[in-house]
Amino acid sequence: MLSDEQLLRYNRQILLPDFDVAGQEKLAAAHALVVGLGGLGCPAALYLGAAGVGQLTLADGDEVELSNLQRQIAHGDADIGRSKAASAAESIHAINPEVRVSVVAQRLDAESMNDCCARVDVVLDASDNYATRFSLNRACIRAGVPLVSAAAIRGEGQLAVFAPASGGPCYRCLYPEDNAGPLEACSDSGVLAPVVGVLGALQAMEAIKLLSGYGEPLVGALLVADLATMQWQRLSVAARDDCPDCAHMR
Ligand SMILES: [Zn+2]
Repeated sequence: MLSDEQLLRYNRQILLPDFDVAGQEKLAAAHALVVGLGGLGCPAALYLGAAGVGQLTLADGDEVELSNLQRQIAHGDADIGRSKAASAAESIHAINPEVRVSVVAQRLDAESMNDCCARVDVVLDASDNYATRFSLNRACIRAGVPLVSAAAIRGEGQLAVFAPASGGPCYRCLYPEDNAGPLEACSDSGVLAPVVGVLGALQAMEAIKLLSGYGEPLVGALLVADLATMQWQRLSVAARDDCPDCAHMR
């Protein structure tokens, strides 16, 4: 049951007929894991918190640096040197104190990833390296939770939802591990601030859809957005029969 204050706080989304009180109650009962509290994870986590996802776990082993502040909007100047996960938790709490936020101020290894994924309803991959992306994919498959994955660099972004338990491909179907070159880094190639904001907000959108049942999540498709020219493409992605991570589910 939502309180009067909650009905007011979340009024603008409860007004949506296909979201309604039932959608809000599903969000309130849900637990999301955000891995990486950088350019993507900051807006994603802020929106999840503001929208009323009941419980968030924020995982990041890094500390806030001056060069992060151009785009990592949950952190402020006074947070330089602090844990990114703790800083983001504080920002979420300032917006919405009723969200329960757990902080994991360390880089997740395979074991802690399995533990974290087993306790949540959805995982957002906002990390910046392939090792984390591949092990998070495996942990999500093991736990049976959907993975909302995004990446952004320069003026470009990608978004996909991986839910092999409901028939779609997994991250490794799209990016075979053997062919994964080095993940391009914003520290080398650069990125315009709103690009990560757009993609991070889209990650929150997909997570909210998965948790509430609203709309149609981007399962089985890859969104490729060139924000420099505003050309957006939606590409179909099939599950691979020989995928070492998810083929056993089919
Ligand atoms: Zn797969």
